[in-house]
Amino acid sequence: MAATAIPIDTLPSINPATGQVLAHFEKTPPERVARAVLLARAAQKQWAKVPIRERCRRLRALRERMMGSRDELADTVVNETGKPRVEALFADLFVALDAAKYWSRNAAAALRTERVPHHSLAAKTKSGSLVYEPLGVIGIISSWNYPLAIPVSQIIPAVVAGNAVVCKSSDFTPKCGMLIERLFREAGFPQDLVAVVQGGAEVGQAVVEAAPDKVVFTGSVATGRRVAEACARKLIPTVLELGGKDAMIVLADADLQTTSSAAVWGSYTNCGQVCLSVERLLVEESVSQRFAELCAEKTKKLRLGPGNDSATDVGPLIRPQHVQRLMDLVEDARERGARVLCGGHPRPDLGPSFFEPTVIVNVDSNARLSQEETFGPILAMQTVKNADEAVRLANDSPFALAASVWTADKKKGEAIARQLRVGAVMVNDAISYFGIAEAPHGGCGASGWGRTHARAGLLEMVHRKYIDLDRLPRKEKPWWYRYGGELERAADAFLRFEFSGGIGAKLRNARGALKTLFRDHGL
Ligand code: NAD
Repeated sequence: MAATAIPIDTLPSINPATGQVLAHFEKTPPERVARAVLLARAAQKQWAKVPIRERCRRLRALRERMMGSRDELADTVVNETGKPRVEALFADLFVALDAAKYWSRNAAAALRTERVPHHSLAAKTKSGSLVYEPLGVIGIISSWNYPLAIPVSQIIPAVVAGNAVVCKSSDFTPKCGMLIERLFREAGFPQDLVAVVQGGAEVGQAVVEAAPDKVVFTGSVATGRRVAEACARKLIPTVLELGGKDAMIVLADADLQTTSSAAVWGSYTNCGQVCLSVERLLVEESVSQRFAELCAEKTKKLRLGPGNDSATDVGPLIRPQHVQRLMDLVEDARERGARVLCGGHPRPDLGPSFFEPTVIVNVDSNARLSQEETFGPILAMQTVKNADEAVRLANDSPFALAASVWTADKKKGEAIARQLRVGAVMVNDAISYFGIAEAPHGGCGASGWGRTHARAGLLEMVHRKYIDLDRLPRKEKPWWYRYGGELERAADAFLRFEFSGGIGAKLRNARGALKTLFRDHGL
């Protein structure tokens, strides 16, 4: 990689499979980020007046543009992340296209004004409603691992709800960022409504400094904490989509053939660089040896190589420094008694960032492989006595993003799902819920807060305003001045009418309650 040739005001687009610099993209000077937010603010004021049906129509145009450009988009994702092209199509393009399709059809209904019925007698004369209003400018700071799927599926609900977006795409995937801005522009979204700013930490900080109305951050726990602190100082609300350490619980009655294929795919897809990767396999004792053998057999058949070779199953890591990190994790687990069944080595013969898909068993709960986010192609297995131990170990992590349970007994699967402290659990599948538009995504604990995707994610992009219409505008309210006289006793009768149990108490206090409502105020 010709690092010395890179001008300081540009970002290199690097192919992780080769280390080759493919192109340079202009870095956004941090001082220009504030201007992008100002321009976005001006554009948003007009955009918010555009009827939602028309905003949805632009999403249809966006979907068409993305479909028309899918080859260029897939090639760019492959070139900048190294993932196999089929993953760029199934994950990045599918999620981005499906978000456009889903919200073009469903945003209007999801944001329709809602009636709020009142249960209390004290509020019966009022009609309530909830209206959903755009927040203004949403700052989106994104990761590199799904450089199309993640930012696009966050920008879409933001704009369809009437917001503008300033998105800092990852500095590892600058061409993807450039294409995202172009797609929205070409789909007919107003100038400046969706701006992509390019750069590293300093540009991300500038996004927060420019005080958008909300920040949606996707990335590591360490950066997420910094972003949350910076936002808190300005009272900017956040959504944090951070790391994961997802457990896959395999019960003895699971179909071992299917489940081992899932474990292998769930551990290695995107070279294991997925927030929802299978990072901890917890397998019931009676089947654990057979299960490990199946995983190792299947792993040995996988082809490691560059993403643009259609024979490749597993691509490279994003950058060479992660190779050493993974070697250290494997070594640490070995020192604590783990056994490597296959893989475990770098492959410099293929390129600077290749690491073999690795099956490692008997991983101790205290090993770094059990504690830290692996973010690499390592299938790390632990044997458990039974489902209870699996649940205990699965929940014994600061991360709490997602998990999966594998069993022939759906009821048992659901019962275990309910015991896991995570944002989502799949029974007999893993990871793929991220591609279900109706499924909310997000975790708790160190995995962050807030939600993206689904209606929960759309509602993160709006201000929920309650509007109250009084049906008796000429009537003074019972709780207004003046006090004194009979009011205290009447108020007590009202409480007894509303909150005492039994119809008898209600009848006894009905008169007093009505007197409260229709009292003479003496003003
Ligand atoms: P990262 O934390 O290094 O960077 C994320 C983004 O933050 C980048 O755009 C980066 O330039 C920017 N940034 C860095 N410092 C900043 C600062 N001080 N202020 C503002 N912005 C700053 O993460 P990454 O390596 O890009 O992504 C990998 C991580 O992301 C993993 O931990 C993974 O689990 C997580 N991730 C989570 C989800 C999810 O939905 N929960 C999805 C994808 C990735």
